[in-house]
Amino acid sequence: MNDPLSFSLLSCLTDFSVRLNADGIIQQASEQSQTFLDLTASPAGEPVSHFVLPEDLAVFQDAQELAVLTGAKRSFVCRLLRQRALPVWADCHILCLPDSGDYILLAFDASHWKENEARLTHLSTHDLLTGLPSRTLLDDRIRMGINSSSREKKGLVLFLLDLDGFKKVNDSLGHSLGDKLIKAIAERIQGLIRRTDTLSRIGGDEFALIMTITGQNKQKDVEVVANKILALTQRPFQIEGNDLYISVSIGASIYMEHGDDPSLLLKQAEIAMYSAKEQGKNRWEIYSPQIDSTEKGGLSLEAAMHEGVLNGEFLLHYQPVFCARTGVLKGAEALMRWDRPGHSLVSPSRFIPLAESSGLIEILGAWALRMACHQAMLWQTAGITDFYVSVNVSPSQFRRTDFFDLVGKALAESGLAPSTLMLEITEGVLMQDPEKSGAILSSLRDLGVKIAIDDFGTGYSSLAYLKKFPLSVLKIDKSFVDDVPNCTQDVAIVSAVLSLAAGLNLAVVAEGVEVAEQLEFLKTKGCDLIQGYLTGKPMSVADFQKNCIP
Ligand code: C2E
Ligand code: CA
Ligand code: CA
Repeated sequence: MNDPLSFSLLSCLTDFSVRLNADGIIQQASEQSQTFLDLTASPAGEPVSHFVLPEDLAVFQDAQELAVLTGAKRSFVCRLLRQRALPVWADCHILCLPDSGDYILLAFDASHWKENEARLTHLSTHDLLTGLPSRTLLDDRIRMGINSSSREKKGLVLFLLDLDGFKKVNDSLGHSLGDKLIKAIAERIQGLIRRTDTLSRIGGDEFALIMTITGQNKQKDVEVVANKILALTQRPFQIEGNDLYISVSIGASIYMEHGDDPSLLLKQAEIAMYSAKEQGKNRWEIYSPQIDSTEKGGLSLEAAMHEGVLNGEFLLHYQPVFCARTGVLKGAEALMRWDRPGHSLVSPSRFIPLAESSGLIEILGAWALRMACHQAMLWQTAGITDFYVSVNVSPSQFRRTDFFDLVGKALAESGLAPSTLMLEITEGVLMQDPEKSGAILSSLRDLGVKIAIDDFGTGYSSLAYLKKFPLSVLKIDKSFVDDVPNCTQDVAIVSAVLSLAAGLNLAVVAEGVEVAEQLEFLKTKGCDLIQGYLTGKPMSVADFQKNCIP
């Protein structure tokens, strides 16, 4: 290294290269070093410490000592001082020259990857979509909130916000619109809070809000904020020309009263949030030991469902479907019920959304499919001919790669003719990935299974898909049937659906027929099939046999 050629070669390859004596005084410096540090004269003759950020001197000296001890090159990262003042990250290597006791220090500009590192840290601690702190930072932020609220003798409250029915938005409108909605919600809530409060996105449709409160009556403060959030989210969100409506369920826990560490506060806020959901959503709850104990000794609804699946607490009810013209029984829709011990029969509108989000729907859905095929086969064998069974398919179930096999197995096991099985899916499911959905539907059609579009008219999709997909049935949603024949608008919609279906050779089931007038209207308009409380509520197998089978 004493060879001047070697030093000048190294100088060319690096941004900064100097030769130091044992006291750390620069003996020789490359031309690039002067340029890199943006100096008017060569740094030669000065202590190298003039060009290292004081905070990083220890790292530098440790590396220097180790280089002497081991005789090997030591590498480290420290900040050199550009213009003697501006720190810039450098990737440094130091090597002791045994003959002279001098050192060679080489450095590369590392500011760009330090920037990347900072970006990476930001990315791993912040949510990409909203830019809000993510779950990883939440405990820290709660702890910081606890510290400052103890210091300043203020209260601290943790809100957990969970959007109601967000999955439906995502399924029917697609993820990109769903993402925009999440962003818009985050912006609205941020507009409400102070800079010292933290809003964090901790899950797909879940936010946490850490807020200091100053009033004497903490419960009152929580109430005011929670009501403001509810009001804020209830106003429609205008996204890509759509008016989207969403509500939120909120759970709150207060520091000290309900817990003194992040995990306990989070748990209590979550219990309160689930209680708000249970009570009908679009509301808030503050944690209290009472709501905790109503959840079956702390067992959440989700955990109770898991247990319920294992204990066989789920069953199917069947609602008859009749020919509108002749009144002959044509089929039945299988509707799930949960016979939860200590509760009355739990309605699917309460547990299906939770089953969807927890993934349990896949087990439950598969079970319903097998069970319904089996039951239909029993009824057919007992002599009811020309009878189909209809099974609801959840979005996540439909998208599973093994869904087709599942249907095949249920048919094979039960011996049911494929043409007497109908699968009900919603419009949104088809629209999310039309190509893939089309492929699944075609293979189901090839198998002989019938497909119905459930809740027709309530989705957000175009009618173009009706022509594209191999469908058999449209189920007009109850909301349109409710006001016929009195509401001219609904009369127009139902009539249009019926003529559209006739043109496309699709059968129509009118759902939710409750009164004779509705049935009359549907009959005259040529609706094929009807289902509703007027002709039969969903009922147990035993009741179905008693009431519907001749
Ligand atoms: P859906 O598929 O639209 O089912 C029709 C709902 O309307 C049923 O509610 C039925 O009881 C109700 N209904 C039928 N006729 C009338 C009527 O004349 N008046 C009124 N007021 N209601 C009527 P249910 O059984 O509570 O089911 C609610 C929803 O839960 C279903 O809506 C379906 O989306 C879902 N669901 C039920 N069973 C299953 C299942 O096995 N799998 C999946 N994925 N979802 C299911
Ligand atoms: Ca249905
Ligand atoms: Ca329906």
